[in-house]
Amino acid sequence: MTNLPAALRSELESSVPFSTLALEREQEARDGTVKALFLTRDGRPVEAVLMRYRDGRRSLCLSSQSGCPLTCTFCATGQMRFGRNLTASEILDQALHFRRLGPVDHAVFMGMGEPMLNLDAVLEAARSLPDVGITWRRSTISTVGWLPGLRRFVDEVEEPIRLALSLHAPTDELRSELMPVNERYPLADVLDECHRYFGLRRRKVFVEYVLLRGVNDRVEQARALAGLLDRKIFKVNLIPYNPTGMFEGSSRKAVAAFKDVLDRARLPATVRLTRGRDISAACGQLAAET
Ligand code: SF4
Repeated sequence: MTNLPAALRSELESSVPFSTLALEREQEARDGTVKALFLTRDGRPVEAVLMRYRDGRRSLCLSSQSGCPLTCTFCATGQMRFGRNLTASEILDQALHFRRLGPVDHAVFMGMGEPMLNLDAVLEAARSLPDVGITWRRSTISTVGWLPGLRRFVDEVEEPIRLALSLHAPTDELRSELMPVNERYPLADVLDECHRYFGLRRRKVFVEYVLLRGVNDRVEQARALAGLLDRKIFKVNLIPYNPTGMFEGSSRKAVAAFKDVLDRARLPATVRLTRGRDISAACGQLAAET
């Protein structure tokens, strides 16, 4: 744009801002993961993460809210003060920031916030992701089971955007202890909605299950999980817990034993690679310390 007069350039800059977010800080982990902390115009902190994998994948973890009102016990975001829902532009500007560093090809809405509490803005941003190089099939919207939003997602979203359910426990009792949202929307109702999604869209649902030492990682809990989930509908991602001070992560042996039970039940399951742990950029670690 240097072919425009300087006065016009500065006028454009103030009336058509480059981004709705100001970059406050950026950190790079040893494994190449980058975490960016932004501030919205009204000073709300927002974090987003770029994960670089050896196979060339470049995946973004995007935030839908500044903070989160749902207070899951294992999640650093849930412990910070809830600010507000982000606008579609504030969500998309997180992706654009990383797109300026290089091509990106996957996105998950698993950063700060519960996407189904801010579904209109999340969908508007997700529908625009192909413009930055991320197809709908490579975009995943996650929920802890906020049913009003999940129902709308199932009914309204015809694009092949993926659905992920953060489950983390195979029983209502334990789930309510870890995630207060379960008191309001119990497991059976949330799973019914996932079944309805599969029936309507014929797409599998990813189940996220973070493994907490001595809390949800026992072999009998793996059996209960295998009994709960239909292997034709669900695919499980086991996530080694990234310590935030409240719980400990499961041992490698416990992770392997848990997966073994799921494998024997022929429930599709993978153990997710942990990225960016040394800069607190991994799952459940986004706390936006400004
Ligand atoms: S896990 Fe998700 S829904 Fe729960 S507190 Fe953290 S950001 Fe909110």
